[in-house]
Amino acid sequence: VKTRDYQVVIVGGGFAGMATAQNLARTGAHVALIDQNNYHQFHPLLYQVATAQIAVPTVARPLRAIFRHTSIDVKTATVESIDPRARSVTTIDGIAYRGQILVIATGAQPNFFNIPGAADNSFPLYSVDDASRLRSRLLGALDAGDRSQDYIDRGVLNIVIVGAGPTGVELAGALAESLRLVVPRYLPKAIAEHAKIYLIDLLPTVLPFFSAASQKYTTKALCDRDIELILGVGVTEVRKDGVVLADGRTIPSRSVVWAGGSHGGRALGASGLPRGKGGRVDVDPDLTAPGFPGVYVLGDAANITDAAGNQLPQLAAVAQQAGSWAARNILADLDGRPRAPFVYHDRGILAMIRRGVAVAEIGHQRRPVTGVAAFLLWLVVHLMLLSGVRERINAFISWIWVYLTRTRPQILVDRPDAYAIDWNKHPSVPRQPNDADRSVLTHLFSRRGL
Ligand SMILES: Cc1cc2nc3c(=O)[nH]c(=O)nc-3n(C[C@H](O)[C@H](O)[C@H](O)COP(=O)(O)OP(=O)(O)OC[C@H]3O[C@@H](n4cnc5c(N)ncnc54)[C@H](O)[C@@H]3O)c2cc1C
Repeated sequence: VKTRDYQVVIVGGGFAGMATAQNLARTGAHVALIDQNNYHQFHPLLYQVATAQIAVPTVARPLRAIFRHTSIDVKTATVESIDPRARSVTTIDGIAYRGQILVIATGAQPNFFNIPGAADNSFPLYSVDDASRLRSRLLGALDAGDRSQDYIDRGVLNIVIVGAGPTGVELAGALAESLRLVVPRYLPKAIAEHAKIYLIDLLPTVLPFFSAASQKYTTKALCDRDIELILGVGVTEVRKDGVVLADGRTIPSRSVVWAGGSHGGRALGASGLPRGKGGRVDVDPDLTAPGFPGVYVLGDAANITDAAGNQLPQLAAVAQQAGSWAARNILADLDGRPRAPFVYHDRGILAMIRRGVAVAEIGHQRRPVTGVAAFLLWLVVHLMLLSGVRERINAFISWIWVYLTRTRPQILVDRPDAYAIDWNKHPSVPRQPNDADRSVLTHLFSRRGL
């Protein structure tokens, strides 16, 4: 295997890897940035892609465009193995990249907690591809409901969201808003009236990291829009035709969204890096992996603690700040200076529920803000977090458009595989006649005078 040598090799062009690369680019360091996608993706707005509010190019920015005219050598490849001792990685096409410093910023992957059927039958929301698939499925469900009352009777208009953290809450809120304001403009009124959103969590509350007051506000805002909250109950199985709950209930649905947690990802598995909670690497205060001083692990791939020893949450802000901090430590490494322990500046947490309704807890003191003020704050913070001027302008225009016109410009089916609903496949469900069968049956029965 031919090995390519760099001063720094970064795996992952997400929030953490990109911040590291951008800070190193300013110094002209010789850096390889490897990502399986040729774009950086902006997770916080994926739910808006899934609900047809904004377009994919707003949340996905080509890495080569970001790093053109810099010393960053962007490589599009999937890393298959990591050798922290040699500070090298090997891609699935067998090319090895070695750095004086290696940065692992591979993010997280959905954690299905070995729940039967969850990986196969639910729609996770962790990537641009996931968001496009989910959008196509939701449009497929609405179209099926429009075609046949039988499909409605079989639960096609039930949307089940597993996980009531920020992703689940934001998605539920956006879908409820769409059903109320937008769907009746495109489809017969009965479709929105029959549709039902379920938000399920094993924990007894929504938004577990928020204060009790924010949780109460959010719960009321969701219930006001007829979202059925099922809290303190786990999902024990996800089937093609719905979910089974721990209390024995079943909810028929063809649109089960998985927003139920994440883990450190496959690439870390065989690396030999010491892994802790959630399969993530427990890093030292300077963001390096214990025992591997030339290897940094950042963002969602790491368990990062603050000065008091509390674990920091898996947030874009944590990943971005860790990325910038790691770049400073890497430059110190290359100059032979000591590294500094990471200090996180906590600016707070936010969650959007719908137009004009959001919760924010500002700063380390968690000063609560709700309603329109929190909604506007959410928009401003996410505009700032977005990478790229074009992307910010796109997001801004899309928001003005969807919030004022109450339309969804992106109701496009671009994933026919996800759009199509397979009515017959779940083995434990007796095969139901579909439309084609029905016309044959009608024909036979009519011949027999029924
Ligand atoms: C739906 C959703 C909504 C969110 N909303 C918010 C929010 O509102 N606010 C907030 O602060 N945080 C939010 N988060 C969390 C935030 O997105 C993450 O904390 C952040 O993305 C972590 O950054 P990262 O760089 O560690 O990982 P990522 O941003 O996930 O980047 C990892 C990168 O590594 C690449 N990669 C992975 N494996 C390989 C491999 N084997 N080979 C090559 N490349 C690889 C991936 O393609 C990806 O580009 C949200 C997350 C999700 C999933």
